[in-house]
Amino acid sequence: MATNLTILFISLLVLTTAIRIWLGRRHVSYIQTHRNKVPDAFNSSISLGAHQKAADYSSAKTQSAILETSVQAVLLLLLTVGGGLQLIDNAWRGILPEHDIIRGAAVILSALLVSSLVDLPFDYYRTFVIDQHFGFNKMTPAMYFIDLVKHSIVGLLLGAPLLFAALWLMQGAGDYWWLYLWVVWSVFNLLMLAIYPTFIAPMFNKFSPLGDESLKTRIETLLTKCGFKSQGLFVMDGSTRSSHGNAYFTGFGASKRVVFFDTLLERLNGDEIEAVLAHELGHFKHKHVIKRIALMFFVSFIGLALLGWLAQQDWFYAGLGVNQPSDYMALLLFLLVSPVFLFLLRPLLAGYSRKNEFEADEYAAQNADARYLVEALVKLYRDNASTLTPDPLHSAFYDSHPPASIRIARLSTFTAH
Ligand SMILES: [Zn+2]
Repeated sequence: MATNLTILFISLLVLTTAIRIWLGRRHVSYIQTHRNKVPDAFNSSISLGAHQKAADYSSAKTQSAILETSVQAVLLLLLTVGGGLQLIDNAWRGILPEHDIIRGAAVILSALLVSSLVDLPFDYYRTFVIDQHFGFNKMTPAMYFIDLVKHSIVGLLLGAPLLFAALWLMQGAGDYWWLYLWVVWSVFNLLMLAIYPTFIAPMFNKFSPLGDESLKTRIETLLTKCGFKSQGLFVMDGSTRSSHGNAYFTGFGASKRVVFFDTLLERLNGDEIEAVLAHELGHFKHKHVIKRIALMFFVSFIGLALLGWLAQQDWFYAGLGVNQPSDYMALLLFLLVSPVFLFLLRPLLAGYSRKNEFEADEYAAQNADARYLVEALVKLYRDNASTLTPDPLHSAFYDSHPPASIRIARLSTFTAH
């Protein structure tokens, strides 16, 4: 059995890594092939220079992602069948021989630390080399590291109690520990959704109430028309870190907020902002957020039930390079290995998300003017240097949003009459 799982895992890891690299290379070559001509639909709105900048920016990001994918695959092999996790476990067993839960937390955090240390140079490179080169980065290295420390502390403060709860349930709650953990996990997620906008996001960015009175009146009229209650309109100082623009809703129930990046407000006019907001409202009207949460609960239920069973199988540990079974090792192996198995579901999730985008666009067309949404999208594509010519297969596999040309063509059908 041990060898069967080892062979299955290695084959699948090699296969998914090969697919990722192949898709990435296709994407870059497709973009470069279309680099010297702006697609007809954007001829009047996007210059050749802007189109080429988007092509080069997308290619640079994809190439760095290809390298990162390969490094992560090698790291995962080293940690699992290469015996890395067992080494970490042995080291902590020497220090904390008696305390299963504390040792478990130490082993899991050590492994996660190793994996984030490997990711760090890639993230740093994306920010200070790629984004810097294309003029998007607004961070200094000092800010970057302060953010990193803050993120780590907040992550630890929130994650550690959850981790201890998981290990404690695994150890002492009997056969149905996974069910109790699922309840804890679900409550934790709902709590996070509720407290994130008011307590956590402000640790990283400044949120100030929207000051522009005429814009505020317009937006409030739209919100009322769409039957949406929010806890206020806010502007976020996104420009302190990056010049990419965005707008979003955060929160849940009573803590819902509308947040605009300051960069978005600078670039779009009132009509366009209203259209973008109508699109976001479409997501709420179609209950996309609630459906997404329900899907996440469902997937985590299946996952934890599976983990409850796998944790009792000796071949699960042996097949993945661990020779001393323990609760925490089961949890850690599952966290590290399940993404490899879930990768093949990615096109389904991306397709579902694109379907949601079309629904939100349709809602926007009914409640605002679709022409302004098209204008806003073109500006955002241009200013964010997003490519107008993604490889169709790469896009089908990964993209949460439909390609610009398809999305705009569809929006134009709403304005035709
Ligand atoms: Zn959307």
